[in-house]
Amino acid sequence: MSIAIKVKGVSKSYDSKKDAVKNISFNVREGEVIGVLGESGSGKSTLLRLIAGLEDADEGSITVSNEVITGPADNLVAGYDFIRMVYQNFKLQRFKTIRDNVASEIYFLAEEERNKRVDELLELCLLTSKANNFPHELSGGQQQRVAIALALAMEPEVVLMDEPFSNLDSPMKMVIRQDIISILRNAGVTVFLVSHDHADAMSVADRIMIIENGEIVQIDTPKKLYSHPKSEYIANFLGPTNYIKPKGKRKPTSIRPEKIKLSPNGSYEGVVVETYFQGMHYYIYVKSDSFDQNILIYSENDLIIGEKLKFDI
Ligand code: ADP
Ligand code: MG
Repeated sequence: MSIAIKVKGVSKSYDSKKDAVKNISFNVREGEVIGVLGESGSGKSTLLRLIAGLEDADEGSITVSNEVITGPADNLVAGYDFIRMVYQNFKLQRFKTIRDNVASEIYFLAEEERNKRVDELLELCLLTSKANNFPHELSGGQQQRVAIALALAMEPEVVLMDEPFSNLDSPMKMVIRQDIISILRNAGVTVFLVSHDHADAMSVADRIMIIENGEIVQIDTPKKLYSHPKSEYIANFLGPTNYIKPKGKRKPTSIRPEKIKLSPNGSYEGVVVETYFQGMHYYIYVKSDSFDQNILIYSENDLIIGEKLKFDI
């Protein structure tokens, strides 16, 4: 499989004090979906804009689809046709139908070809039945799919998404997210998806890149990152965890709550200090002399505060 994005030793600072992106190197395979997670200010958007050719790198090189990417300093018009960005705050044209919104993205094509492409895009993005509706008649998820149709109109090779799902309210978010990623996979594009929400990346990405202070600290499959995070920062990004040092271990490690089992003969003792109902299970916080922080355990049943229990890790 060939490489779609190659980033080598890229650094970028806006002022001399701190690098926004520091010596970053990685490759993305063609058709791969990469999730990028990191705290606010960790450099995610800067990295995305560098790849899109919207910022100038101080050092290093970026190639996308075998073309060397350079920033605004070297280009009269910044950006590249074969790379498209999707932002959280996309704007559709209010007084145009969905069909006309999509068509205006490829206005320069001859009418017959344009109509054919619009039909294709609407079908790909599951919008055929909405072709003659106006933007305000669509749900948030449907509008998001129009934004994807616009991004795909010119048949880009790479789609860069900066927090594309942060505007959606939660009940439908999961389905919308899955729909959009499967549309992008069907289109065969390489996807770079930036988010501060681990659920965005976990459920859809082939690999996840974790960024801390402008540096890549781990890049792995979601499963590997979840079970073998290299640090506490990384562990916390992928869901609730206990970053603790079990007996016999030399270093603290991430023990997910679902791995901790209550058992009458358990080798650790503790007492329940807090419980929270969370739908699928209760979150039980246990104070134990074996650890200097409370341990999070999942339990099907609520437990009583003050109750003594034993558990295994
Ligand atoms: P993220 O997207 O992860 O929140 P950013 O890439 O936006 O992070 O920002 C990384 C760092 O660069 C932050 O310290 C931010 O304040 C700084 N930064 C981002 N854009 C600019 C800019 N246009 N001018 C100056 N500093 C910036
Ligand atoms: Mg950002």
